[in-house]
Amino acid sequence: MSLAEKLTRNNIRDLVPYASARRSMSGGRIWLNANESPYANEYQLDCSVLNRYPDFQPASLIQAYADYAQVEKEQVLASRGADEAIELLIRTFCEDDDQILICPPTYGMYAISAQTCNIGVKKVPLNSDFTLDLPAIEAAKDKVKVVFICSPNNPTGSLVAPQQLKAVLDIFKGQAIVAVDEAYIEYAIETSVASWLNEYDNLAVMRTMSKAFGLAGIRCGYTLANADIIQAMSKVIPPYPISWPVAQIAVQALSANEPDSGLVRMQQQLQQTMVQKQRIVEALEKLEYVYEQVPSASNFIMFRTEKKKALFETLVEAGILIRDYSSQIMLDNSLRISVGSEAETDALLSVLNEFK
Ligand code: PMP
Repeated sequence: MSLAEKLTRNNIRDLVPYASARRSMSGGRIWLNANESPYANEYQLDCSVLNRYPDFQPASLIQAYADYAQVEKEQVLASRGADEAIELLIRTFCEDDDQILICPPTYGMYAISAQTCNIGVKKVPLNSDFTLDLPAIEAAKDKVKVVFICSPNNPTGSLVAPQQLKAVLDIFKGQAIVAVDEAYIEYAIETSVASWLNEYDNLAVMRTMSKAFGLAGIRCGYTLANADIIQAMSKVIPPYPISWPVAQIAVQALSANEPDSGLVRMQQQLQQTMVQKQRIVEALEKLEYVYEQVPSASNFIMFRTEKKKALFETLVEAGILIRDYSSQIMLDNSLRISVGSEAETDALLSVLNEFK
């Protein structure tokens, strides 16, 4: 055993370093496995400031997030992706034998972040129709300090109904933070709960620039919550988390004033994604080897096929990478496809239609 292994904390010894979304196919051309945007945009950079540390929370970026989400700037914290926000919530609010609560199948980083922080994870699986099991959540509430609910949920694409979210906020009133992960909210913006912040002091909303805004490469996310929650998280986030280039790019992506502004472009690209998504949904409906697809409120689609292994491999041979979820709880035979560009969808559909 190496010295490093000997000294490594017990609870993280069996973890493996995070593998890139590109890991399993160095030669792949079409990446439909990480729910990214297929569109890259151009940005201007001012390098004259790069010799200086950035602001702890760049003022123009915080204002841009606040304007976009229609909240106060004291209700915003910028972080390196939503992933950092997940960890910050756990590190800020959980200690000793506190626990987080998650509802699988859902995004994997909640449990991984808890494990790296030595915090226990209570799992209350979704119902078979992917709604929340409220009585089971209520029964599991002891010792819970942070609840993670993802809507639209990754990997299923399903939405959590507002009445269910309100019920969870009420169950944990005065006890725990309910963190609603809105990473994919642009695809279902009318369902955002950001406007509930003044009503619920235990609500935190996580957002990201990685999906609809097409900025996964700059690692940029944010949390919306009441000013006290934001203050508490600010004590834990390391100094200078947002570099100048990241702040500059994100501000341009959120700008709303000119006809070709970042927000207008995002909305146009989102419309194109919806068109391609519809093509994939219709194609999957006609395929005999697909026996179910989950109605998706996002930019990815989960479906079930008995031939998942062969289909996955056939797509890889064609240079197309999707994601296999079939080993996860409630997701037997499930594959997930992220919606790409028109050309990527053409390539995908030609393989799907020929596969027997
Ligand atoms: N939440 C969900 C549900 C996600 O799918 C992802 C990205 N895969 C994240 C959070 C993390 O996003 P970011 O790139 O901002 O860290």
